[in-house]
Amino acid sequence: MADFIRVDAHVHLYRTPEEGYAEKTGYEVWEYGVQDDVHQSDCVGTVDELLQQMRSTQISKAVIVNLFSATVNRKIAVASLDDGMSESETAKRTADIDDWIRREVISFNQWNCSLSRQHPELAAFVAADVNALPGSLCAEHIRDMIENHAAAGVKLHGAFQGFDMSDERLWPTYQVCQDLNVPIIAHSGPDRESKGFAEPRAFAKMLDSFPQLRMVVAHLGGGTWTQTLDIAKAYPNTYFDCCEIIEWTQSDNGPTEKQLAQLIRDIGSSRVMMGSDFPWYDLDHSIDRVFSLPILSMEEKERIIGANAVDILGL
Ligand SMILES: [Zn+2]
Repeated sequence: MADFIRVDAHVHLYRTPEEGYAEKTGYEVWEYGVQDDVHQSDCVGTVDELLQQMRSTQISKAVIVNLFSATVNRKIAVASLDDGMSESETAKRTADIDDWIRREVISFNQWNCSLSRQHPELAAFVAADVNALPGSLCAEHIRDMIENHAAAGVKLHGAFQGFDMSDERLWPTYQVCQDLNVPIIAHSGPDRESKGFAEPRAFAKMLDSFPQLRMVVAHLGGGTWTQTLDIAKAYPNTYFDCCEIIEWTQSDNGPTEKQLAQLIRDIGSSRVMMGSDFPWYDLDHSIDRVFSLPILSMEEKERIIGANAVDILGL
């Protein structure tokens, strides 16, 4: 038994080592600008790697927040279509791709839930994507995952999925989460095209509309962290994890260690959880980073490393 409860509130897993390797090498963390000595994990995101790291760090629970993007999958599939096809053939093949994406997000989420069935120390947050499942289909799918497959929450990544956090197509899904009292963990940070889909201020309208919904704004706002305190103050139903940003405290656009610790203190440290963003970073390193923060008390740090996640996510 660990001396205090330890939870990793933000990890990614992949179905195969190849898929994990491709994701890791294809995803550049650009938003913080330059930092030379960022800690990086050698892992590629398999279940066995994660369980091994959990054992060695005495982390008793990890929250899986796997990503799915219909927009990215569709783009890749459409690009592979033959140029020489007729218009009607192209239309038919595009419709086939959309059908395939609908089935794909459902089977992806079923896989996420099967992980937590096999490994009770893993909690599955499932991907909601209104570009894959339009209208109320997304909300119905999420309800099914929660009620019948033991999904513990919902994951959103507006920058990667290509929709705004306050896109009203998400309203039925938000309503289901609020009604069933299930939290959402949403990536936050800038995007390459400056659409602002996942910046902290993009959450304001949905937070206004769903005041009982527990919304975790991941990475404390990432490269747009200076917007985070306003949102935290305006909406008491917002919570945060400090993964990734805590590894980038020497960067151009990230906060310094002192600024990060002050931000956590100003928000209220009980609203902030530790995550590793495994397999980008390692679990033991994430714990060390929290312990090395200035300003915060030892008790606050220990709660960030575990007890807060139990309370916030209802684990
Ligand atoms: Zn992540």
